[in-house]
Amino acid sequence: MEGAVIEEMLLCMETLWGNPSSVHEAGRRSRVAVENARRKVAGFLKVAPSELFFCSGGTEGNNAILWGAVRDLGCRHLITCATEHPAVLKTAENIARQGLAEVHHVCLDAKGHPSTDHLSELLSAHPGALVSLMHANNETGNLLPVKAVAELCRKHHALFHSDTVQSIGKFHMDMQKLSMDFAVASAHKFHGPKGVGFMVVRQGHFFKAYIDGGGQERLIRAGTENVCGIVGMAKALELAHASMERDQEHITGLKEACIRLLREKVAGCLFNGDAEGSSLHTILNVSLPPALDAEILLPRLDIAGICVSSGSACASGAHKGSHVLAAMGVDTRLPSLRISFSRHNTMDEVKQLATVLAGIT
Ligand code: PLP
Repeated sequence: MEGAVIEEMLLCMETLWGNPSSVHEAGRRSRVAVENARRKVAGFLKVAPSELFFCSGGTEGNNAILWGAVRDLGCRHLITCATEHPAVLKTAENIARQGLAEVHHVCLDAKGHPSTDHLSELLSAHPGALVSLMHANNETGNLLPVKAVAELCRKHHALFHSDTVQSIGKFHMDMQKLSMDFAVASAHKFHGPKGVGFMVVRQGHFFKAYIDGGGQERLIRAGTENVCGIVGMAKALELAHASMERDQEHITGLKEACIRLLREKVAGCLFNGDAEGSSLHTILNVSLPPALDAEILLPRLDIAGICVSSGSACASGAHKGSHVLAAMGVDTRLPSLRISFSRHNTMDEVKQLATVLAGIT
């Protein structure tokens, strides 16, 4: 987390000890902090503060939106795709298992993007559906053309939800121009605290309470607000927006250098998804040569101080492998890595990653 975010949260812990639902002065000060944070976050996304609901993050937001659309907004068909995050896929499966809606998967093109032609066909066959397609894939970085998808959804009177966990804080996102009905965010994806996030639910698509209790979050999500988390999240989003263009340029440079260096140093490596096309600058997914001993890959990188995730075919057998890469037809027997870049990474770190990987292969 950024120093400025920590400072803001510490100040909040020290001074805002009142419960925002209390009417006394201490409570009112906390309420003001929560509502100021709401206005700030809503301003960055160009939505009304009343369209922003604080929650614990992307998992909760995705669950709430899918269930809300089916239970309260009359959606009997869910259109999604096999490369979504489990918070969408498993929720959709569960809804289908309970017979509340039918789930349809959009086919993927050669680079792993959902096919807009197939989406169009599914929408024609099932008007009034909820479409849930993520903006940026968390494993490959593949980007969805959200505006085009939103227009397609409008044409077919479908609701459009996009899991924007990876993209909020990375781009200027005008939810009105993008015409999304629902979106979700997790603060830790833009250097905020963990366990706090929000949902955007556009006016006219509000659903009923999914957590019953008190009247917080305009009755749909009961429970005392995570005041310090919310305040820290708003600060983190502010900082992300303040240096967005600079960060995009810096991170894109790191990703491009990483691709170039891995190509030079690790013969046979293959980049998954649309790495050099429509792809989020912060994520790179690479399959490594079969000769590489998958068992030692992550521990060796870890020892070298490099924190990356395995993208598939994990060594230990405890990990099932990536459903995203499998859905894209990637050979998941190959070891693969999911590399995330942030504004805090340096070119030297990228060079070190390539050198260490070259030493293992
Ligand atoms: N959606 C996407 C695309 C994600 O990358 C993640 C987490 O990494 C989630 C949802 C879940 O977010 P959280 O763990 O904050 O609930």
